[in-house]
Parts: sequence; C-alpha cells; structure tokens
Amino acid sequence: MPVDTHVISEVIEGRRRLSAAEAMELYGHASQHDLGQWASAVSARLHGTQARTYVLDRNVNYTNVCSARCTFCAFRRDGDEPDAYTLSKEQLREKLAQLQAIGGTQVLLQGGMNPRLPLAFYEDMLTWMKREFPAIHRHAFSPPELVELVAVGEVEGFPTTKPGHSGELEPAVWTAKLETILRRLQAAGLDSIPGGGGEIFAEHVRRRIGLGKATADQWLNVMRCAHRLGMFTSATMMFGHIESVADRIDHMQRIRDAQDEAIRGNWPGRYVSFIAWPFQRENTPMGRLPDWDVESDTPFPGENPDDPRHGKSLRMAGATEYLRIQAISRLFLDNILSIGSSWVTMGPHIGQLALFHGANDMGSVMMEENVVSAAGTTYSLDEALLCRLIRDAGFVPAQRDNVYRVLRRHDGPDSPDLRVTDWSTHRVSKPHPPRGPSPSTDTSKLVPLIARPSTSSS
Ligand code: SF4
Repeated sequence: MPVDTHVISEVIEGRRRLSAAEAMELYGHASQHDLGQWASAVSARLHGTQARTYVLDRNVNYTNVCSARCTFCAFRRDGDEPDAYTLSKEQLREKLAQLQAIGGTQVLLQGGMNPRLPLAFYEDMLTWMKREFPAIHRHAFSPPELVELVAVGEVEGFPTTKPGHSGELEPAVWTAKLETILRRLQAAGLDSIPGGGGEIFAEHVRRRIGLGKATADQWLNVMRCAHRLGMFTSATMMFGHIESVADRIDHMQRIRDAQDEAIRGNWPGRYVSFIAWPFQRENTPMGRLPDWDVESDTPFPGENPDDPRHGKSLRMAGATEYLRIQAISRLFLDNILSIGSSWVTMGPHIGQLALFHGANDMGSVMMEENVVSAAGTTYSLDEALLCRLIRDAGFVPAQRDNVYRVLRRHDGPDSPDLRVTDWSTHRVSKPHPPRGPSPSTDTSKLVPLIARPSTSSS
C-alpha cells in the first residue's frame, strides 16, 4: 500500500517514525524526485538550509595485514607478501605532519585485523600521536580490529584464542575483555571509533562476504561498549552486491534500535553519523561473480535467502540506487544526526547530488585512501574542490569537527575555493594549498550538535 502523504509529512517534521515496511514501500515506489525532496526537508530541519559541512582529516591505513578474507576486499594481505606492511612511527609522523600542515583536525586510523600486533602496539601508537600531534582527533580502529584484539590480545586475567575466533570465548568473558581493551585504548588517546566493517548485518549475507570478520552482534556490541564509555562513533553500510533491499532496511533498523538503546540508557556516547556506499568490485574476489541479468524474468536471488543461487550473482548499485538508499537512510534514521555523502566511491558530482538527497556532510578531503582505491575507485579532492562542490550546490561550505560542530564557515573571500583563480592548474600544482590560521581548538564555545533523543514510537 502506498505510504500516505500525511505519514510522510509527519516523518519530515520529526513527529513520526518510518517503519521498515514503509521504507520498503518508498524504496520500491516513490519517485526519485520525491525521495530527494523529502530527505532534503529532513536534512534542512536538522541542519538548516545554509551550510553543509566537511572535515579535514586523513585516512591512515596503518597495516594491510589481515586475518579475515572478506570477498569484497582488495586491500588485505596475509603478512608475508612483499607489499604487506605495518607503518613505522616515522611514516606515521610524515603523514600526520602533512595533515597538520593543511589545517587537518582528525586522523582516521584503520587497518586490517592484524593478529601479529599486540595491544601494546595500539596503546603506544595512540600515546605517541597524542603527545606529538595533540590537536589532531584520533578516530580509530573499526569494530573488526577491536574484535581481533579480543581474540588475540594478551590482557592480564583474560584468555586468548585463534585469530578471527573471538566468538569462542564465553560471552561474559568476551564482553569484559572488550571493555578492558577499550578502556585502555581510551586512556591511551582513542577519541572515537569509525563504523567500518558494518557492510550488511544480515547473517545470510555476512557469512558469504565477510569471511572471518566480526559478526553483526559483535560489531554492534563494540559500539555499545564504546557508547557506554563515552565515545562517539559512526555507522556504515556497504550495499549493492548479493543482498536484498530488505537486508539494507534491516541493517538500518538495527542501527536505529542500537541508537535508541544508547539514548534510553542515557549513555554518554552515541552514533553521530551514517554513511552508505556501493560495493566497488575491481580486484576483489566477489567482483568476479557474474552480474545478475536485469532483463531476467526471475527475481534477483539475493531477495530470497533460501534460494540456492543466493550469493552467486551480483546486483551492483549505480548512482540512482545509491541516491535512493541515501534518501531512505535520512528518512529512516531519525535518531542519527548526520548523513554523509560518499563522493569517494560515487565521484564528486554524484557526491554533490547527494546533498539534495538528505546528506548534510561531504566527509573528508582525501589526502590518501588505500582500501576503496584498491578496489578500483580513485576519486580525490582537496579542500578547495570540496568547498566548491558545496558552494556550487547552493550551500555555504563549513569545516566541522568529529561531532559535527562547525569550526569555520566559509562566507568570506578568503574561503579555500574563492582563493583559487585558476582551476585548470589547481589540482596539479597545489593539491593541498597552505591555508590561514587553524580554527580554534577550544570547542567549548561551539554549539554542540549531538543526536537528539527520539520520542516517537518504533
Ligand atoms: S575488509 Fe577489512 S577485515 Fe575484511 S579482509 Fe579487508 S582488511 Fe580485512
């Protein structure tokens, strides 16, 4: 049954929640134009109509050694290959110094699940970064890396197990060991946790694509623990492979439920953002699967978990699909503050269009990206280009921090994009031009924008 326009109005105004069935209905039948308009209206209610944000951060993939074998990954190495690596302090210093030089405020540290690295390695890396680069926020270690530490980390009073097998520990031991690890990392300098490794939560999908990786429950439990300890996190979804549309909505439902739990419990940490991106196939084992024939008169096998052909063909997501899912995420995730545009995978102009489908944030400049680019995506933007995309879309670009507080609005002529006089040579000659003084790091005077508690029923 079509979703009533009255229901849509209430969802836009924040007085009613979209059900999973309604989200499915909208996904299947609402026009692209309507979805974009409705999602933009929610974004305008939460973020106003003037500014759209970005963050100056850098992805640093500190190791590519990984015990998991995700079929969508072209980045991982076993550890003995010539190009397997773990970054040294000198290499980290160089990357963070470059980040600092462009006025960066955050580093996103993410690796493989490297079973050879002890807990002390992570503590030492954080402590060192905090001492050497105190103004840079450490957004680090997605749930799968932390779950691997639960398996193999030597922590006094707790057992270890084989890489990728933390689930063999007693649940109470697993939880207590995770909390001990997170407390130690937080004390060493961990500020917040990125939502990598979310993929698709549904078990029948996850067991086919995330071989040896954190289960959905483990992923959610890591974030639960982080929220209790006062850390902010993001949530992600990688779609457009073997999953059904219902699996995508179920994924969002689990995040919305988890956020409700954090809000009800009045935990000091929350999910602050959600970002979804389509699977990139180049160089990945899963990418070699044949494409599902869209002309076929049979449904996509991924729509039925019991179909024996499930997982044996791909239904890739293009720009339209991506924008529809992003718009649905803005309408559905009423307790998550920010929806991010994935220009890194979709390209700058679809990323810009995402601002008209519910996204309020353009994410980060890409000084360096190793994981998605290993799978064939090579889009790269600097601050001026990112600002220009936002301004050309009709918004004022604004630099933000990790919890979406605006650090600097670019209204004036000294804005990064407005200082560029020759765009034809800009990319080549000055990928990251020097800038004015860094924004104040005294964030106490800034208005916090934290996910509002939801009062509507599910
Ligand atoms: S996606 Fe991450 S966890 Fe999976 S194999 Fe690649 S590096 Fe490892």
